[in-house]
Amino acid sequence: MNFVFPLPQSAVPIAGSNALFPVRRIYCVGRNYAEHAKEMGFDARELPFFFCKPADAAVPVLPGTVGKIAFPPRTENLQHEIELVVAIGKAGGNIPVDQANAHVFGYAVGLDMTRRDLQFALRDKGRPWELGKAFDESAPISTLYPLSETGIIDKGGIWLKVNGQERQNSDIAKLIWSVPEIISNLSEYFMLAPGDLIFTGTPEGVGKVQKGDVLVGGIAGLGELSIEFV
Ligand code: MN
Repeated sequence: MNFVFPLPQSAVPIAGSNALFPVRRIYCVGRNYAEHAKEMGFDARELPFFFCKPADAAVPVLPGTVGKIAFPPRTENLQHEIELVVAIGKAGGNIPVDQANAHVFGYAVGLDMTRRDLQFALRDKGRPWELGKAFDESAPISTLYPLSETGIIDKGGIWLKVNGQERQNSDIAKLIWSVPEIISNLSEYFMLAPGDLIFTGTPEGVGKVQKGDVLVGGIAGLGELSIEFV
């Protein structure tokens, strides 16, 4: 049997090699830094919660290049969320916290781009967030850095500049739910599999971007991610 048409496999290049990490699913964690939860209007520590983006929302951007991202339609308030991305390399369900890092293939710098106006309108009506979160090219991502080279990342700076001005600046150590805790909790609900990406949440300082803006973000121990909205 043959497919009736070819379907490209979403993939993220692996730093320092010609290999590609095929993307199966993209999970995202909501409100996982206290100061960002506050700026979204929430104060209490909640269990982690998740939403998804389609695999082809990932737009890999090679180091030293500026990824051109199409400014999305139907929004007056497109916002940046710089995030540590965790790539899963080993399948599992009900993964204990103390074994979770064994499922990590590596890390990347990602942007959970958000049509905030649509997200809030949907949120306020109790509707799903897809139109606000899961649109085309909504997940720009750097190359992937294997854990075998970075070691476990549980602290270090995370930052984003827009047109050279600092917008977000925090530390991975301030994640409310740590990477192992996220993997453990998420794997109670879904079987995780190689190819899954998890966007782990954004620190405070999210804000609006416009066509023509250049965004540069980074995470200590990983590279940088640069994009321009066109
Ligand atoms: Mn986010």
